[in-house]
Amino acid sequence: MHPQQLHTDVTYLKGVGPGRARLLRQELGIETYQDLLYFFPNRYIDKTRFYTIAQLERNSSEVQIVGQVVHLKTVQQKKGSRLVATFRDATGEMELVWFRSQQWFRDRLKLGEPYVVYGRVNWYNGVYSIAHPELELLREHEQKPRLRMQPVYPSTEKLGRQGVTNRLLSQWVAQLLGEVRDTLTETLPRELRETLGLMGKQRALIQIHFPDSQKHLAGAQARLKFEELFYIQLALLAKKQQRKRKIKGFPFAEVGSHFNTFYDQHLPFELTPAQKRVVREIRADLGSNAQMNRLLQGDVGSGKTIVAVLAMLLALDNGYQACLVAPTEILAQQHYRAVRELLEPMEIGVELLTGSVKEKDRKPMLEALASGDLPFLIGTHAVLEERVRFHNLGLAIVDEQHRFGVAQRARLWKKNTSPPHVLVMTATPIPRTLAMSLYGDLDISVIDTLPPGRKPVRTVWRSDADRLKVFRFMKDEIAKGRQVYVVYPLIQESEALDYKDLMDGYESISREFPQPQYQVSIVHGQMKPEDKDFEMQRFAEGKTQIMVATTVIEVGVNVPNASVMVIESAERFGLSQLHQLRGRVGRGADQSYCILMGSHKLSEDAQTRLQTMVRTNDGFEIAETDLRLRGPGDLMGTQQSGILSLKIADVVKDGEWLRTARHHASALLQADPVLTDPAHSMVREKMARMEVFKSRWDYIS
Ligand code: ADP
Ligand code: MG
Repeated sequence: MHPQQLHTDVTYLKGVGPGRARLLRQELGIETYQDLLYFFPNRYIDKTRFYTIAQLERNSSEVQIVGQVVHLKTVQQKKGSRLVATFRDATGEMELVWFRSQQWFRDRLKLGEPYVVYGRVNWYNGVYSIAHPELELLREHEQKPRLRMQPVYPSTEKLGRQGVTNRLLSQWVAQLLGEVRDTLTETLPRELRETLGLMGKQRALIQIHFPDSQKHLAGAQARLKFEELFYIQLALLAKKQQRKRKIKGFPFAEVGSHFNTFYDQHLPFELTPAQKRVVREIRADLGSNAQMNRLLQGDVGSGKTIVAVLAMLLALDNGYQACLVAPTEILAQQHYRAVRELLEPMEIGVELLTGSVKEKDRKPMLEALASGDLPFLIGTHAVLEERVRFHNLGLAIVDEQHRFGVAQRARLWKKNTSPPHVLVMTATPIPRTLAMSLYGDLDISVIDTLPPGRKPVRTVWRSDADRLKVFRFMKDEIAKGRQVYVVYPLIQESEALDYKDLMDGYESISREFPQPQYQVSIVHGQMKPEDKDFEMQRFAEGKTQIMVATTVIEVGVNVPNASVMVIESAERFGLSQLHQLRGRVGRGADQSYCILMGSHKLSEDAQTRLQTMVRTNDGFEIAETDLRLRGPGDLMGTQQSGILSLKIADVVKDGEWLRTARHHASALLQADPVLTDPAHSMVREKMARMEVFKSRWDYIS
């Protein structure tokens, strides 16, 4: 193909010109021929099909019918009138309705003559009708060349106002297709196309804009979806392959005394089979010659921390330092305490570095780090600062990565001459299909079972009317020695209001749960870190029974004695956030509860969210639902991954195509790792042209 031609500015397309080109760029992001070619219709007007009146259904959308107008009347309404035509075919009757230009139609409509009408059907009181239908005498319709399905392109108000109508857009696309069709050469190997029965490239691009039939349209869509996903997978897999080949990791050949001593003598509990499997996977990575880049997914409470510690011990056994970075101060502190406690009997140096560490404490810490005397560092973003130098960082662990920016992560990797092994831990389960398209270049481990003895959290949905009962329930639990979280939403856009809600809530709870019988803590983002920590600490030690908080407690906080999670205005939280919050309880041996406070009159999506929470504790099921409701835009990494720039495939709906694409991409690379086979030359060329992968985030930049 001649890619040059496709990079031509749309200005030069006949009938466009500079003014409209500017509009296209501003409104639709279309700059080049290529952009316009890949600007696909979002629906089609299907005039290849005729309906009879008897075939209409209440949810029929746009239909085309042949029939006759047998009667015309004007019906008075509150304001003005409408013109109603009784329209009949051999199977039944319906109405055509006009609110505007009534006189014009009254004068021209020919009773008893066959017309072709087209429009959106309404159903009211047992009668179907079309308002302002497109209308044409059958004999005129028959003289015209047979129409194909017509594309309807996404548009904007401004485009409409400036005269760039759908008709004009279609004309431009048709014009463009005429000019470039011969340059649209095939981009998939023939063998692959034949195996999958995929339409050729040129044909697919024509049929996606101007389909001959529904069947051809489906064929074109399948072909283009496959191609899109196939190339993403190919690029991800190629990158992974390249990294494995090129980048030497530090081989952690030894499983030495630290790891073994800890494993044999100091493990506080037996690892679950899932934990054991993941430790094996990590050990295999670390022992190989390649750099590890592994994503560890495990639901809240599944026990990722111990896995992290074991990996750190492997680093130490091989003479390397390790760091563990968390997104918040509270979380870093908690990790620090957990790790210190685990390592207590081992006399291994570990320090905590956060923004609030005083200079006088910081200096010796940094010195010990640079000299290598300090093997383990745990901390927040503070660890990423320029002046934090390691002697030899062999392993970097990032917890709850979705809170971390990509650039920040890259800084960690830069702390060495060669990149450390990287383990990214997340408690946000990512549906498999999405994980494949986002992290196709990472290895993925999953802890898919919880430690034994956990009782699933019982979740209910309550409204304001139940509040007294909820308070009573809280009191009962507190009387049993348990603790309670009450969480309020706080989002940036409505921060002041939310903050007031939180304070009002705190006051009403303080009234309902008076001192000295009850102690109530409050933690929110506007408090100083020391104060926050102080309150968290009091709650963790059981000195307060109720913790009123915003979502600062969402991530990682661990107070096993807390057994009730009350979430206020639960409808305002996203599903994954609700799931994270619920994960704060159910960590001890007692039955735990999650109470979602939300009116019963909610939007459909909000209802689905709350119902999903009530129905299941399974993080992956919740993640799937979340993805269906919201699309992938909010998930971590999606901004960078290119999956949001998908033109036609949909990671949520096209999971099956995604799997197929991944399978074939992998097979192709296996058979021909550097694409030297002439049968794959078009693949190599296309990959070289793909901009999105040149700029894709790089774990090892
Ligand atoms: P998360 O995956 O959410 O980070 P943690 O590592 O904080 O989970 O573990 C949650 C709790 O479960 C901790 O109190 C931890 O000590 C405990 N735990 C982890 N693994 C096991 C296990 N195999 N058996 C018993 N308890 C475990
Ligand atoms: Mg954790």
